[in-house]
Amino acid sequence: MAASMLHHIGAPHHKPRDYSKTPLNIYWEMTQACALACRHCRASACPDAHPDELSLEEGRAFLRQIPEFGEPLPQLILTGGDPLKRGDLYELIDEARRLGIGVSITPAATPALTREVLVRLQQHGVDGLGLSLDGSTAARHDSIRGVPGTFDRTMQAIRWAQELEMPLQVNTLVASETAGDVPAIYELLKPYGVSRWSLFFLISVGRGKVLQPLTPDEGEGLMNWIYETSLASPFTVATTEAPSYRRVALERMRAEGMTGEQIKRSGAYRGFGIRDGHGIMFVSHTGDICPAGFLPLTVGNVRNSRVAEVYREEPTFQSLHDPGQFEGRCGTCEYHALCGGSRARAFGATGNPLAEDPFCPYVPSGAANPGRSRL
Ligand code: SF4
Ligand code: SF4
Repeated sequence: MAASMLHHIGAPHHKPRDYSKTPLNIYWEMTQACALACRHCRASACPDAHPDELSLEEGRAFLRQIPEFGEPLPQLILTGGDPLKRGDLYELIDEARRLGIGVSITPAATPALTREVLVRLQQHGVDGLGLSLDGSTAARHDSIRGVPGTFDRTMQAIRWAQELEMPLQVNTLVASETAGDVPAIYELLKPYGVSRWSLFFLISVGRGKVLQPLTPDEGEGLMNWIYETSLASPFTVATTEAPSYRRVALERMRAEGMTGEQIKRSGAYRGFGIRDGHGIMFVSHTGDICPAGFLPLTVGNVRNSRVAEVYREEPTFQSLHDPGQFEGRCGTCEYHALCGGSRARAFGATGNPLAEDPFCPYVPSGAANPGRSRL
């Protein structure tokens, strides 16, 4: 499911790593093919694969590059389009596992997603599943996803994942059309043993342009709701493409008198410092290398570049690793190392991936002062 990014949820702990050297997650959009027609699809997915899609051998060659990052290896998130549309999916999973790479997958909720498929994915060593749920009722969800029956299939897959004890991340789109339904989606998910619920704040790329993003003030209100909800939630509640949630959460935790150690143990802390192109990299169905799925700036191709080299040395990636190069409020913000703004949204709004994130209403107090964001 291209529209909402899955963080790797199979591994219980992330070992510390230098995100300017090695990403936590590599998202591979294995194909553009998908039977759904979501109104916000980043991939502008269509029923058939692109003729220039990476072949099995090219896919294997790309996977064999990943160990060049060294330990700890990034996690691989198989996305699309619908990764189940690839006839060689299990060969590619086997290759990744043989190389010691952890694998998660975000299939589309179509009739191809059966219990047997989940069992087979598990048998091949997939240790995390991501599903999208954008509405608390069939009418709401299916109107976003474009195909009737998708809500029921998603809920069925959630129940199967629970039975199979497969770590599950549920992704929910936040746009003005869905935001009012978010509390009801939370209530719906509560009983299902979900590992992580991530709220993806719409970025207007691909088909996403037909939906409306929240205003910055509405976003700030929802982030405060997310923080309050996360305190009693049975699962981790996180955001995608809304890193300023970390500022909101940090300010709230400080106001509650939490110590630096307590903050480090919080769910919100796990994402600190990760942003598009820093902790994250994206490889498209044709092998293009981008900083993130929502930041479609092609800076290489796995057919003729080495991913580790591009991630560490290519100038766009280097500037994304360095918050000192960010501009506007994100340049002077004391939170820029742990937040840094959505580089994808900055790019979408201005064409400059280093510009300030227009979704964040925060006005920094002055020159960047790393001391304020230190725990
Ligand atoms: S499930 Fe929806 S968002 Fe994901 S690739 Fe298919 S059409 Fe796009
Ligand atoms: S101004 Fe930029 S870096 Fe600071 S909190 Fe907002 S989005 Fe994050």
